[in-house]
This record gives sequence, C-alpha cells and structure tokens, in this order.
Amino acid sequence: MKRFDLPTPGFSFELHATLGHARAGVLHTPHGSIETPVFMPVGTAGTVKAMTADELRAPPLDAKIILGNTYHLYLRPGLEVIEAAGGLHKFAAWDRAILTDSGGFQVFSLAALGEIDDDGVTFRSHLDGSKHRLTPEVSMNIQRVLGSDIAMCFDQCPPGDAAADVHEVALARTTAWARRCRDAPRATGQALFGIVQGGVDTARRRRHMAEITAMDFDGHALGGLAVGEAIEETYRVLDEVAHELPAERPRYLMGVGTPQDLTRAIAAGIDMFDCVMPTRNARNGYLFTSGQRVNISNHAHRADFGPIDETCPCATCGTHSRAYLRHLFQAKEILYARLATLHNLTFYARHVRQIRERILADGQPA
Ligand SMILES: [Zn+2]
Repeated sequence: MKRFDLPTPGFSFELHATLGHARAGVLHTPHGSIETPVFMPVGTAGTVKAMTADELRAPPLDAKIILGNTYHLYLRPGLEVIEAAGGLHKFAAWDRAILTDSGGFQVFSLAALGEIDDDGVTFRSHLDGSKHRLTPEVSMNIQRVLGSDIAMCFDQCPPGDAAADVHEVALARTTAWARRCRDAPRATGQALFGIVQGGVDTARRRRHMAEITAMDFDGHALGGLAVGEAIEETYRVLDEVAHELPAERPRYLMGVGTPQDLTRAIAAGIDMFDCVMPTRNARNGYLFTSGQRVNISNHAHRADFGPIDETCPCATCGTHSRAYLRHLFQAKEILYARLATLHNLTFYARHVRQIRERILADGQPA
C-alpha cells in the first residue's frame, strides 16, 4: 500500500492495488474515509433528491460522499442562510464528506448566459431572471461558505462540438481561473481539485493537463467529457489520458455516466464519479439491474411480483415487487421516487464496489 499526503492538511490518498490502469484506493478526508473507485450521489440543492441523510448513510448504500451544487445553493436558499446555519454539512445534517462543484457548468448550461470575459461570467438566474456574476473568487467564496470537503476550480466547459478556437480560449481561461481559485481563501480543511478541459483532442488535453497538474491541486478532474460527443470519443480520450494524470492524487471524471461508462473509466484509471443518472432515471421510471434496464411503466410489470433485481440487497428489492412499484409510478405516488432512488443508488454503489473488489483480488498490490 502506498500513502500520499495531499497538499491540504487532513487529506491523504492511499493506493491499495492496481489492475492495468484501474486503481483501488482510499481517500481520507476530515469527514471520513472514502474507498475508491467511488460513485458520489448528486445532491444538487442540498439534498440527494428523495433521500434522507440516514437513508444515504445506511448500508448497503452507505454513501461516504455526496455532491452539493454551488450555483443552485447560491441562488436558493442563498449564502446568508447557509452561513447562518454553519455551513452545508450542518444545514443538510450530513456529517460525511461533501464535494461542491464550482457552479461553472450550470452557468454555462442552465442559466441564461450574459457575457463571459476573462474575469468571469454574468448570467441570469433560471429561477427568477435576476442578474448575477460568477468569477473564480466568487465561486471559491461560495464554496468556502458551503464548507465542502472538496471544492472544485471554476472552469469554462465548452460544448462537445465547439470549434478549436473556442476550446483554446476556454483552456487559457480555465488555466488562469485555476490559478485564481488556488490563490483564493478556503475553509479550514477544504481541499481543491483542478479541472482539465480540452474536448476530445488528446494533444490539447495533454497540454492543458500539464498546466493544471503543475499547480499542486489535491486532486484532478477531467471536465468537458460526455457533453455531446459520441461515447466512443469519450472512451478514446479516457483511454489515452486518464492514466497520465498524477498517480498520487485522486482522479475524478465529472458528470459521467452509465454503469458501463463507469466500468470503462475505472479501467482507464479514474477513481471518482458523479452523475444525476441513477437519481433522475429512477424518478423517470428507469431502474438499473444486473440484467436489462427496467422501464417500470411497461405493461409487462403490471402483475410481476418479483423484485426489481433478485441480486440487489436494497430495502426496495427486499420489500416490494415490480408490480407495486409500477402501480406507485403510474399513480404518481411520492413513495415511488423514494423507493426507486434508493434502488438505483444502491445499484451504482454496488457496481463500483464490485469492481473495487475485483481490482483488489486480481490486481497487483500497490
Ligand atoms: Zn434494489
């Protein structure tokens, strides 16, 4: 086992085994230790939709880290409320680790974008149209108040099909902004990850990787993948560059993806994931299983009294049938979202844990 102290006090990363480029490790944070690879449930507005903190913590789901969203929490309830609460951990009654994104992705994808310049981004809220400005310093200040364990650098994420000159401008900005984020004040015990952009051009990715990894961040993320490009392109970039990120720091692939995507990315050397897919799909009637994905609204499930997945240890599968879940879904009962979300999150947690077990069993001790 190799242990690496990360630049921020209170953080370290252990590598336990490797299998090809895949890694099994542990990320230690002030709010607990996280076995990697790890899938982090997304808690956009200070809640993983439909789940209580107790449900997230309870085995077999046993989530060790969740995401919070800077853009959403800044707009609502607003920083003064979270500051008065004593930070996001206390506000949401979540005593384990939290990673916050920088708000950049939402500003570029959700908000009505005003102007973007080298200093930051002006945008209008998707809630009420009010005008706001996000800069690296503002994003870091919001994340400082949220008090997440891991903050992310404010970056510019161009669409997958953006032209080369758009990518170049975004790269230069993301590097300059990363430096400003690094130099901004942070909460005590708050780590900071840098984000590598560059689209699907691996030469450009490598060039940006060199700039970002030179800044001594606690971990590194690949951003701007699975943002509209063909999935084969995503896999090609991952296969080529993920393992070139520094081995002694955690590697995070932002916003990806399906269980198969996670398998591929872990094989390429990624340690951390987040995605709304398990939670959003659950609410929309799509349930992951060890076999075919289930569309619970299908007539075939009307009188199917078996569980969603025979092999799943979650309380939903242990208690309720597909027929009952389909009924709740059709009747738009609130309970459906809770049961389905618990199942899908448990499926994702188990999926990456099974891969971790395989790396430990079949790989080389680090
Ligand atoms: Zn289940």
